[in-house]
Amino acid sequence: MSADRAPGPPKGRPSFPARLTPGREPAVRAASAVARPPVSPPSARHSSNDAARWAMVRRLQAQGLTHPSVVQAMAAVERHRFVDAGLAYQAYEDTSLPIGLGQTISKPSVVARMLELLCAGQTLPLGRVLEVGTGCGYQAAVLSALASEVYSMERLRGLHDKARQNLRFFRLPNVHLLLGDGSQGYAQGAPYAGIVAAAGGEAIAQAWLDQLQVGGRLVAPVQTDNTQQHLVVVERTPQGYVSQTHEAVLFVPLKSGVV
Ligand code: SAH
Repeated sequence: MSADRAPGPPKGRPSFPARLTPGREPAVRAASAVARPPVSPPSARHSSNDAARWAMVRRLQAQGLTHPSVVQAMAAVERHRFVDAGLAYQAYEDTSLPIGLGQTISKPSVVARMLELLCAGQTLPLGRVLEVGTGCGYQAAVLSALASEVYSMERLRGLHDKARQNLRFFRLPNVHLLLGDGSQGYAQGAPYAGIVAAAGGEAIAQAWLDQLQVGGRLVAPVQTDNTQQHLVVVERTPQGYVSQTHEAVLFVPLKSGVV
């Protein structure tokens, strides 16, 4: 991984993303235990997108999402800003959508489930979190409300650039986008309070286990046989790693190298 692809840890305040509209309230803030309406720019206030997003959150709650901070974070992030304009009308349906280069933005229910598993039993905000598979940047934006720093790595330059563009609007200084092969983790930001992978490999990468802090949690899809992936949660305890296998899922494959 070359230095320009995955820069070292930011010195002082991170420079990304640029503030395009100084003085505006950020769209996402640190989560608190009480759900409250999202802070949106005036132009977006009370739009049909807001109504659709709140309906999405109510459906997630009806399906079992209970973690108040995850509920709030899902309510705060405008998912329609992460998909092509022609797909925006589907942005709040519980469906994955194409984001280019053969990849997809995960379903809202899957994002919520992964983040709920990541946060379970943890004090929020989490410390540093590593996301493997930035894609369009949606989950990184949701994570930014749950963690003090988010390091999000993508191996496809086209999507890394797209995420940078998408996230610029939200001005989230705690999100650091990295171009690199996330199966090696990102040692410069370690140890992590949480690691979440949006692509499924044949096993949990050793680098992720090494880079998880004691007390930290890792959530990743893992190929359990030729046809199936399951969500796996690994907790690093003082006594060692404790792993739990959850429901079957369908994520894009974890690949190696940078393209
Ligand atoms: N969380 C994303 C979901 C993106 S789909 C979102 O909100 O949009 C999963 C992403 O993982 C794809 O963009 C894919 O290119 C990326 N990916 C697959 N293998 C990877 C690897 N080894 N390192 C980094 N990213 C990887």
